Amino acid sequence: MNSPSAHTAAGDWLAEADIAPLLMSYVQITGDAAVLDEYAPHITGPWNFMESVPTSLKDRLREKIACALADMAAGKRAPAAPPSGELLHRMLSVCVGQPVPAEYVPMICHEMGFAGAAPLEVTWRARPPADVLARFHVLIIGAGESGLCTAIKLLALGIPFTIIEKNAAVGGTWLENTYPGCGVDTPNHFYQFSFAPNPDWTRHFSQSREVQQYLDRCADNYGLKPHIRFSTEVLAARYDEASARWQVTCRSARGEETLNARAVVCAVGQLNQPLVPDIPGLADFAGPKFHTARWDHAVDLAGKRVGMIGTGASGMQVGPSIVDTLAHLTIFQRSPHWAVHNPNYHASVPAGMKRAIRDIPHYAQWLRFQLFWASGDGLYESLKVDPAWPAPDQSLNAANQAFRERLIAHMAAETGGDAALMEKIVPRYPPYGKRMLRDNHWFRMLTRSDVDLVDAGIERVLPDGILARDGRFHAHDVLVLATGFQAGRMTWPITIAGRGGVTLRDRWGEDDPRAHLGITVPGFPNFFLMYGPNTNLAHGGSAIFHSECQARYTMLALRELLETGSAAMDCRPEVHDAYNRRVDDLHARLVWSHRLVGSWYKNKRGRVFATTPWRLVDYWNMTRTLDPADYHFTKA
Ligand code: NAP
Repeated sequence: MNSPSAHTAAGDWLAEADIAPLLMSYVQITGDAAVLDEYAPHITGPWNFMESVPTSLKDRLREKIACALADMAAGKRAPAAPPSGELLHRMLSVCVGQPVPAEYVPMICHEMGFAGAAPLEVTWRARPPADVLARFHVLIIGAGESGLCTAIKLLALGIPFTIIEKNAAVGGTWLENTYPGCGVDTPNHFYQFSFAPNPDWTRHFSQSREVQQYLDRCADNYGLKPHIRFSTEVLAARYDEASARWQVTCRSARGEETLNARAVVCAVGQLNQPLVPDIPGLADFAGPKFHTARWDHAVDLAGKRVGMIGTGASGMQVGPSIVDTLAHLTIFQRSPHWAVHNPNYHASVPAGMKRAIRDIPHYAQWLRFQLFWASGDGLYESLKVDPAWPAPDQSLNAANQAFRERLIAHMAAETGGDAALMEKIVPRYPPYGKRMLRDNHWFRMLTRSDVDLVDAGIERVLPDGILARDGRFHAHDVLVLATGFQAGRMTWPITIAGRGGVTLRDRWGEDDPRAHLGITVPGFPNFFLMYGPNTNLAHGGSAIFHSECQARYTMLALRELLETGSAAMDCRPEVHDAYNRRVDDLHARLVWSHRLVGSWYKNKRGRVFATTPWRLVDYWNMTRTLDPADYHFTKA
């Protein structure tokens, strides 16, 4: 990011607004497209730190937009028609400093509300009678972001629903994960509902509490809370073929009860059951020990010797956040992870930018598009295996290799080139094989004298510390398990039984979940998964974007069911199987299947079950319509 000039006649606050969205807002307000040519050569990528627009040009733009805003306020300027066609396409490309392929334009128009495109809301073609709607009840399991998203869409269609939530508040993962440093690593102005933008994010990448509060506000603003049964856990959901209803058994302080629903949306996520590793002696540790997702805030870490097992996304956020208070931190690394530097990661959103989001017409949309593109499909091609690539163990292709070199250069700079440390921390698999992390000052932390990185493996845990496989003992007062989640046992521990009493566990085994579009499973009529198999985003994007795709598809399904007066719809097995073959075929050529990569994306047999193989644009297109022929409908 260029440093903003200290003062412009247009006002300091405008100097804090990112230049590319400001430029696009100006063009959209005034229709003055001639300025695009002037600025385009200086915008070379989608992040705000990828522009080098000269200060004089920036100042001129700020003056111009200030005048345009003043004219609007004085009623001297009518809103211009939204850009479309060639102009819109050009603006999209200039905004992100890259050519935006035409196939993206329809999605972008709908998602960002450009060119006058309405958001892709599902509406009735023939609204069912009120009494039919009133009798159709949907039960949503989970009040995290995807459950709330589903509820908001049901509300819009007037379909009654109840959310069952095991916790006492909304937020799911953002409620449960309170470990120090916990935060989102997708930029927040994109990691938010498209229909509920928050102009007040305090950071570009906010901490978990702020995300939970945002979700809580959404629940309030949409009036969802009266529909939520808090502190109630779903134990089982069983489909009754005779009545075409799901019987959902729940447990709360009042005891157990069974609710009836015409449809169930399972929105429990992939990452809600902590994985406590099966390490010999772990139960014998005498001091406090806890998983990152169950952080024990009663334990005072000041002056303690802490052992942390795990170096994934959670560990990467915890370590640097606690290290200053500790006497010593020992990190047990089973395999190193790649981590990328982003200058915005720790930065606050300046007041001027918040004001621009609020007050400048179209600015928020262009900012969202910029971040959508920055964290979108741009990398996807570089995650494909080039069969002719000569060094397939370290990278996949030339772009992936170039990225690898940039990551290593960053590590070397942060560690001062410490060769022994570099030997431990440079992964021996291609970048993006595991989840790409954001460097949270992790590498710099590893150079501290009060931090040890142990990669020898753990022999066993003893009451007062950890014995490593190299024979060295590490004394600890507290153990932190940053060891991830039981993602493969998707929907566990809830028993979900479809037709004939067959359960998802019967169908999937311990760790091989599959679904059509990650949403529907044959034999489980009127049952929809949010963030289901092969929908985790690992190349980019935002989980909330994906939730909106899945909620849209679910609404299309419910609309079909209700408008046709059907009792049940069940995904055809051949459709499901063909889809999953396509998923597997694509994955065979993508980085997540790489033979040197072990990750929570893969099951024991090496099949990638968690992560999507699709580009965002593919999945958006696949879920924007529903083909009734993909389902078997049962008449009421
Ligand atoms: P994770 O990525 O699965 O990392 C778990 C870590 O524990 C890995 O380093 C793993 O080693 C290690 N581990 C597991 N079992 C072990 C054992 N028996 N012995 C030694 N080490 C062991 O889990 P996570 O860090 O909680 O992240 C999970 C996912 O949650 C992320 O990928 C991301 O999708 C999400 N998340 C997101 C954010 C964010 O947005 N900022 C933050 C946290 C989590 P190996 O690598 O060798 O398997």
